[in-house]
Amino acid sequence: MDRYQKPRLRMVDSQIRSRGVKDPRVLKAMEMIPRHLFVDNGLADQAYNDNPLPIGGGQTISQPYIVALMTEAMELKGREKVLEIGTGSGYQTAILAELADQVFSIERMATLAASARKVLDSLNYYNVAIRVGDGTYGWKEESPFDAVIVTAGAPHVPKILVEQLNIGGRLICPVGGRISQDLIKLVRQSEAVDDVKMTDLGGCRFVDLIGEHGWKN
Ligand code: SAH
Repeated sequence: MDRYQKPRLRMVDSQIRSRGVKDPRVLKAMEMIPRHLFVDNGLADQAYNDNPLPIGGGQTISQPYIVALMTEAMELKGREKVLEIGTGSGYQTAILAELADQVFSIERMATLAASARKVLDSLNYYNVAIRVGDGTYGWKEESPFDAVIVTAGAPHVPKILVEQLNIGGRLICPVGGRISQDLIKLVRQSEAVDDVKMTDLGGCRFVDLIGEHGWKN
């Protein structure tokens, strides 16, 4: 229990359930995880609002609904090994830690990785490994993954990330221009990396995925 419990439950009802997210595990995790701890103290009162917020370094914590939509699309049941590109605040990471077995997360900005690590440790999420670096290469040593989530906008789906997916594995990634993107869900069908099923989950706006297989800085 904390002083933000009411706004948190209201957030899930009015922004997430009402917009069609149904996975009870996702809804429960978002009703429980203290999102206000993942933003600066001065922004805590805004943490449950229906929008992204700045987290430093020109980056943002994603809008709660987008987090819910992307997480639901990963179809997590609890036994999965997952990869996240763009740790940022660590809020999405905490949700993954709640819903999957093992979480591997890559962040290119060391300061963000360090503060995310601190909050995740304070909440006892010990099933999370965070690495500082260019996530567009994936995390080969730990592959294959059951699901991969990219929380920054890419010019195209990095093929190398599809290679690190299990057959039947899901990859969620915003793809498009630098201003706006489409949220793409891709399910790997077979050994062939091109054998994928793609769905468009709708429009979105993310900060740039910067790296070798993303936007060049
Ligand atoms: N899920 C995070 C989103 C943060 S914004 C949250 O809700 O807090 C996107 C993050 O992706 C930023 O922190 C940015 O630094 C990071 N990022 C961008 N390109 C990256 C790359 N190639 N590898 C790893 N992280 C990257």
